[in-house]
Amino acid sequence: MNQKVTVLSLLVEELRSGRVKVVDLTQPLGPDTPVIELPDMFAQSPGLTISQISKYDDNGPAWYWNTITLGEHTGTHFDAPVHWITGRERSSNTTDTIPVGQFVGPACVIDVSEEAAQFNDFILTREHVLAWEGENGKIQPGSWLLLRSDWSKRTGRDAFLNADEEGPHSPGFHPDCVRFLAHERDVLGVGVETVGTDAGQAGGFDPPFPAHNIMHGAGKLGLASLANLDQLPPTGAVVIAAPLKIVNGSGSPLRVIALVPS
Ligand code: MN
Repeated sequence: MNQKVTVLSLLVEELRSGRVKVVDLTQPLGPDTPVIELPDMFAQSPGLTISQISKYDDNGPAWYWNTITLGEHTGTHFDAPVHWITGRERSSNTTDTIPVGQFVGPACVIDVSEEAAQFNDFILTREHVLAWEGENGKIQPGSWLLLRSDWSKRTGRDAFLNADEEGPHSPGFHPDCVRFLAHERDVLGVGVETVGTDAGQAGGFDPPFPAHNIMHGAGKLGLASLANLDQLPPTGAVVIAAPLKIVNGSGSPLRVIALVPS
């Protein structure tokens, strides 16, 4: 036994010993999973429906399987650059063409859970990010910027979507902050616990929906409806987020996991 020690053999040992933990950043995906609601003039994205093909019965005596129907952007899901009109001309902008290296990346986690609890429309600014960098170091190119809001702890559709006559109220990013992250920090993308990467009120921002408009226009990615971000350190975790290889897909539900050093 004289196996060469590599970074991956060390990782395997760290995983085996529990010194590196695997944390599930994914919400359960079921018929009750809430999906974003658009104004009435737009087509709506369906949530998940599931129907049984067979379950050890006359339709299939030894096997169980289901048919699922769902929008690409349902539950914990991935946003590809082609999802937004600003990203439609970019190369490698669909779920099947994004280079797979982008599906593994370090995480920078900014905790705004207290702010978002006090003010549901909390908006992260460039200044907030710079203050975070003052404590945790500069965001490295190719990092996920994850916004911890503890929104995933809300139970039930109404509390999660948090809408009133003005529309939804949930935290997100200021356009200037998105520009900074995309162009001055070259992040992989942004990930959030809310139903979409933009703030609930972001339809009224300039530009509207900057975490889509600016991020995808820059070829960046998105992750929505993440969970367990409270189990991640500000830096040091690695996120694995690989969408289904849907041909010409704009996004996909996925299992997001993080490798976290103890
Ligand atoms: Mn989406």
